[in-house]
Amino acid sequence: MTDRLDAALYLIKRGAKIFPLHGMRKGTDGRLVCTCGNLACEDAGKHPMAKLAPKGLTNATNHEHVVRHWFTTAPFANIGLATGPSVVLDVDPRHGGDASLEALEAEHGPLPETTRAFTGGGGQHIFFRPPPGIEIRNSAGDQGGLAPGLDIRGTGGYVVAAPSLHASGRHYVWSVDHHPDDVVPASMPEWMATALTRPREGGSGRDPSEWRRLVAEGVMDGGRNTAVSRLSGHLLRRYVDPAVAHELVQAWNLARCRPPLKPEEVTKTVGSIARRELKRREARSGSRP
Ligand SMILES: [Zn+2]
Repeated sequence: MTDRLDAALYLIKRGAKIFPLHGMRKGTDGRLVCTCGNLACEDAGKHPMAKLAPKGLTNATNHEHVVRHWFTTAPFANIGLATGPSVVLDVDPRHGGDASLEALEAEHGPLPETTRAFTGGGGQHIFFRPPPGIEIRNSAGDQGGLAPGLDIRGTGGYVVAAPSLHASGRHYVWSVDHHPDDVVPASMPEWMATALTRPREGGSGRDPSEWRRLVAEGVMDGGRNTAVSRLSGHLLRRYVDPAVAHELVQAWNLARCRPPLKPEEVTKTVGSIARRELKRREARSGSRP
């Protein structure tokens, strides 16, 4: 058994879904090259191995016989770990991720104890559970995501998992102090979930069925503030009168949140979203009312 197969079986036993990525091997000149054969591969060691998983991430599975087949056929394939059930904060120091994370922790307090891995490229993967009932999508730190150098891998995404080999020649490894044997993924801090689910410039960015589910099913403790701010943003962005939006969100909170937030908390959140929306409109029209 190879270390990759071992690790792959370890992950699926914990409920993860995985699929094979191209690995890195020594080329004729001794340099590491991507097993896709493209010497100039720009995604070396990180892209799906189409020969075994033609649909890439869609082929991710937790079926042992499939996983055994993949990693005995390609013992040095890297491991793609599908995110979505878990969410990974990908800290990339080359794009300022360390500094961004430090600034966010100074503002919001340190991140909770949670599973972490070191990437072979000098970065970190920090694992979280998404707040109940809330979908966290992929986002890039430099394109409206959390902050520069902080990417998010959520629904529809994946990360390269330990002990895959990075193009740098170093392996991805679990952090000894935050190994999945000892530390389970913590719930994503609410400030982070709020930042990641706020309405974006230009369009709702979300499937209508998600909003229908949110209003029909409500949310539980841990996701309520985020849901209130998303729902207010959703209404205000559509030019619903702020007083009307406020009353609707208050009623929804009482009817659907378990347990409901205090009404004054809802007022505060809707108020802050309304101020933000107003600023956005001013910025857009380039004039003050
Ligand atoms: Zn490649």
